[in-house]
Amino acid sequence: SMASPALLMRVVASAYSVAEKAATIVRNVMSAGDLGIVEKAGPNDLQTKADRLVQMSICASLARKFPKVTIIGEEELPTDDVTEDLIENGHSEEILKKPCPPQYTGIKEEELVIWVDPLDGTKEYTEGLLDHVTVLIGIAYGGKAIAGVINQPYYNYEAGANAVLGRTIWGVLGMGAFGFQLTEAPAGKHIVVTTRSHSSALVNECIAALNPDHVIRVGGAGNKIIQLIEGKASAYVFASPGCKKWDTCAPEAILHAVGGKLTDIRGNSFQYNKEVKHMNSAGVLATLRNYDYYASRIPNTVKESLVP
Ligand code: AMP
Ligand code: MG
Ligand code: MG
Repeated sequence: SMASPALLMRVVASAYSVAEKAATIVRNVMSAGDLGIVEKAGPNDLQTKADRLVQMSICASLARKFPKVTIIGEEELPTDDVTEDLIENGHSEEILKKPCPPQYTGIKEEELVIWVDPLDGTKEYTEGLLDHVTVLIGIAYGGKAIAGVINQPYYNYEAGANAVLGRTIWGVLGMGAFGFQLTEAPAGKHIVVTTRSHSSALVNECIAALNPDHVIRVGGAGNKIIQLIEGKASAYVFASPGCKKWDTCAPEAILHAVGGKLTDIRGNSFQYNKEVKHMNSAGVLATLRNYDYYASRIPNTVKESLVP
């Protein structure tokens, strides 16, 4: 008989279904029309009812199945009021059937850290830029992002009534990433993707120094990694603090699973152990290809302004 699936694959298979349930909540809150917006640090740091319900759903669902895993979510919420309708028990059979990369077969629950961004691109969600929104579940082991799930609840929302709404992208280091078509960015063109709602003088100075052919400004860290793996942009450049570990864990795992690279703006890799500081103070630089081209052109003045 077959050995029971490795813990990592069971976690990813569950995270897949949990992220699909999350997407349903994101769409339902929007259709119901009452977003329940709360300002956190200020008007550019928002939380909606969807951020709250989705975090409760993801964290409670995964904690029930994997009680010894450390789960860290973006939102600060009261812990006790999770209703049963928010719990997802399912998993993806297709993911569970895939063999776990050998280096990860012995992982124990206590050794995993799951970073949850229940709704990435909240500002854009409140402004109706719905396809910028993603749900991010990143899985770390030994301080490294090794697996991730990105759900895009409104993928295809402008493609007409016959198009399937929403998609789930997932990946594991050593295995690859699935749920999308890996596409190269146009050869010889430098297309930079960056923030839309959290710009600063330094963000713009850094982009100008790269002399890009084109700049795409969209919301969400998850959405920007999708731009890289689908060939819409050649580099994600964000010379600013503001991104947190839950923004980068799942995107980094998926990007690395297909051969890309994500670091801070100075070239340091991120750590995702449970004790780590949440803020990515030294910004983000990510590419699918030609990482060194962009890294070598980040001005020293920019690097010196951003301390990890
Ligand atoms: P953006 O590219 O602006 O959508 O940012 C990517 C992620 O980092 C989102 O989750 C943002 O909420 C977060 N973020 C970036 N900059 C800031 C900031 N200045 N304040 C709060 N959150 C930020
Ligand atoms: Mg976010
Ligand atoms: Mg968020």
